[in-house]
Amino acid sequence: MLRSALLYLSERKEIQKWIMANPLSRKSALRFVAGEHCGDAVEAARTLAASNISATIDFLGENVSRESEARATLEEYLGLLDRFDSSGVAAHVSIKLTALGLDISQKLCEDAVDRICSRAAEIGSFVRIDMEGSRYTQATIDVFKGALSRHGNVGMAIQAYLHRTAEDVETLLPLGGRFRLCKGAYKEPASVAFQAKSEVDASYVRLMKRLMTSGSYHALATHDPAILDEARSFARAQALPRTAFEFQMLYGIRRDIQAELARDWAMRVYIPYGTNWYPYLMRRLAERPANLWFVVSNLFR
Ligand SMILES: Cc1cc2nc3c(=O)[nH]c(=O)nc-3n(C[C@H](O)[C@H](O)[C@H](O)COP(=O)(O)OP(=O)(O)OC[C@H]3O[C@@H](n4cnc5c(N)ncnc54)[C@H](O)[C@@H]3O)c2cc1C
Repeated sequence: MLRSALLYLSERKEIQKWIMANPLSRKSALRFVAGEHCGDAVEAARTLAASNISATIDFLGENVSRESEARATLEEYLGLLDRFDSSGVAAHVSIKLTALGLDISQKLCEDAVDRICSRAAEIGSFVRIDMEGSRYTQATIDVFKGALSRHGNVGMAIQAYLHRTAEDVETLLPLGGRFRLCKGAYKEPASVAFQAKSEVDASYVRLMKRLMTSGSYHALATHDPAILDEARSFARAQALPRTAFEFQMLYGIRRDIQAELARDWAMRVYIPYGTNWYPYLMRRLAERPANLWFVVSNLFR
C-alpha cells in the first residue's frame, strides 16, 4: 500500500517541485546520491575503490521531453567518461534510455547510446542500460540489441518481477547479452509482473542460477540477505571463481554487506549523481518505507 503510494508520488511533478525546493529533503537525498556534480560521483568511486569496490555511475534524469535535454544528458556522459580518463578512476556508466531521448525518437536515443559506448570503449569502460517501467521494456531491448551488434562493451538490466524476463534471457543470451539482474523498481500491473514478494524472489533465484551457469559474466543486483546467501552457496557449489560474476548494490544502502561481500567476491556499487534525484529517491523509499522516517524527520528538523 505505502509502496504503491510512494511509486505513484514518484511520478507527480507538483510534489516533485515541492520536495526538491526544500533544502532539508535535498540533504536527505544525499544519503542515496553522491552529489550534484560528476566530480562528486568520481570521488565516491575513488573512495569505494580503496575498499576493493568498483563503481557504475549514473547521471540522474529520466523521461526528457526535449531534444536539447537528451543532448545535454549525452554531453554529461561524455564529460563523465573524459573525467574517468583524466582522473585514472576506472568505472562503468549506467544510462537510462528515456534520459537520452527514447520518448522523443528511438534514433536520437540509439545515436546517443552509440556515442557513449564508443567513448567508453576507448578508455576500457562498460555501459549498462538500466531497465525502466514496462512500457519501455521492448524498446529498451531493441536499442540494446542494436548496440550489442555494434559494441562489445554494453549490457542491460533485467527485472525478475516481469513475467517475460525468463524468455527474454533465453533470446538474448545467445547474442552475447550480459545482464544486471534486479528485482524491478516500478509499479507494474499483475498482467506483466509478479506481485507477491515470494514470487518475485523465486523468479530472481531461478534467473540468477540460469545466469550464473551461462558461462558469461553477469551482475547480481540485490540487497536481499537471503538471496545473497543463496548466491554465495550456489557459486561455491558450482565452483565458480571470483571472476565469474559480480554483486551490485546501490550507493548508501547496506554498506556493511557491501564491505563484507567485497572481501571474497567482485562487488560494484551503483553511484547516482545530479540534481534530478526526486524519482530515484522515491523509488528507494518505496523499497524500504523505513527510509521514509529518515527523510520526514529531516524535513521537519
Ligand atoms: C545496482 C542496482 C541497479 C539497479 N538497477 C535497476 C534497474 O535498472 N531497473 C530497475 O527496475 N531496478 C533497478 N534496481 C532496483 C531493484 O530493482 C530493486 O528495486 C532494489 O534493489 C530493491 O530490491 P532488493 O533486491 O534489494 O530486495 P528487497 O526485497 O526490496 O529488499 C531486501 C532487503 O534489502 C534491503 N533494502 C532494499 N532496498 C533498500 C533501500 N532502498 N534502503 C535500505 N535497505 C534496502 C532491506 O534490508 C530489505 O529488507 C537496481 C538495484 C541495484 C542494487
